[in-house]
Amino acid sequence: MTIEMSTSSPVTTCAVPGSDPIAAARALSDEVAATGIVPPAEVGPTAELLVALARRYGNTPFLPLEQARREIGLDRVGFGRLLDLFARIPGLRRAVENGPAGRYWTNTVLGLERAGVFDAVLDRRPAFPRLVGLYPGPTCMFRCHFCVRVTGARYQASALDDGNAMFASVIDEVPADNRDAMYVSGGLEPLTNPGLGALVSRAAARGFRIILYTNSFALSAQKLQGERGLWDLHAIRTSLYGLNDEEYRATTGKQGGFTRVRANLVRFQQLRAERGEPVRLGLSYIVLPGRAGRLSALVDFIAELNEAAPERPLDYVNLREDYSGRPDGKLSPDERAELQTELNRFRERTAERMPTLHVDYGYALHSLMTGSDVQLVRIRPETMRPTAHPQVSVQVDLLGDVYLYREAAFPGLPGADRYRIGTVSPGTTLAQVVERFVASGATVVAKPGDEYFLDGFDQAVTARLNQMETDLAEGWADRRGFLR
Ligand code: SF4
Repeated sequence: MTIEMSTSSPVTTCAVPGSDPIAAARALSDEVAATGIVPPAEVGPTAELLVALARRYGNTPFLPLEQARREIGLDRVGFGRLLDLFARIPGLRRAVENGPAGRYWTNTVLGLERAGVFDAVLDRRPAFPRLVGLYPGPTCMFRCHFCVRVTGARYQASALDDGNAMFASVIDEVPADNRDAMYVSGGLEPLTNPGLGALVSRAAARGFRIILYTNSFALSAQKLQGERGLWDLHAIRTSLYGLNDEEYRATTGKQGGFTRVRANLVRFQQLRAERGEPVRLGLSYIVLPGRAGRLSALVDFIAELNEAAPERPLDYVNLREDYSGRPDGKLSPDERAELQTELNRFRERTAERMPTLHVDYGYALHSLMTGSDVQLVRIRPETMRPTAHPQVSVQVDLLGDVYLYREAAFPGLPGADRYRIGTVSPGTTLAQVVERFVASGATVVAKPGDEYFLDGFDQAVTARLNQMETDLAEGWADRRGFLR
């Protein structure tokens, strides 16, 4: 039997800082009793243990089960029973998902669990990557100070024809059962590839929903006119590097960058509305040190984009903290306190002025808003997995080179070639590249600094796999990974 609970009961919010675990346990007692498998005298203490478990996994999602068991103080049989009971009460699952670290579960882990790809990785079974990043840009017009790109590094324009033929073959090869299997990003700036529109159309014709990650500097009306295939995108997510020209210059090194991006996006809004195009438009805004107070300017910018097309307002905003883990991306404690206030103000103002806007706060900012400011998961060279996770995701650059991590596929990046597992070419498919790597048992020994090749997604996937492996080794195979 499963039991439904209201969405904001003391139970479903029990992992949030400041919530009352005793009230949550009390509210849970009836549900525990209703399962009929807990003796009446044990209902209260059992409810308390369930709340304690939800709080742990809502804050530390990659905790191995054996460690959770020891912290809670049960023997293995008792802990197994507790896990069974946990699974019967959906409100507890929601409590974990609502917790400060809940975005790790909802944005990354649970979707991949449903697809069964983690098991393929741990079984060392070749499988077509669940996510394929296409990195078609030969160059980039910006020079962002946090970008790992080697100054001046680019792909030769002469690589475009063969590169685009290779991307077309990859698009034709990806199994069509997952509509979100591919995205276009970089590496460098995808819109610098003049064949991108045709590739997008090709993918859309096979039913794929392609998201383009771009800086939108080149997303001009002329570009949209010349590359009509860009209208076949499912979404365009623009990375915003500031909210005026001076901030753009400081971040990207380019003069007049904001003026141009703003003009492009305003025009895009108008054209999208006029043409009735379904493509979604979103922004991705990284809160860099010194810019916590700029979120109100972001609200004004969104309002400006909405005024350009009142019937088709902006679809979404992703707010992020610099996830690279580099010291210069870190916000000071004072600024973090300011950011918490600013984030809540941002939430209020967007809810009031732009109610249809979807805002995603990501792993870290979601937790900061809940008042707990949990540390982001940080993979270090010694916790990187020598076999990585190509069954989960790979990235393909303009040369057809296939990389294991999202931040490794930049031309000329020192050390990144160790994470290149093969090349798609007229005689070699992406499936073959992955299959050969997995079947060969090849491994990559991580060196200091290699952790920067992993983005936030790669870090979460690696942490999940490490957790699952520990659970399996410690005899919890049937319950490995806690939530699935
Ligand atoms: S972060 Fe993106 S936009 Fe900035 S320099 Fe690097 S590739 Fe270009």
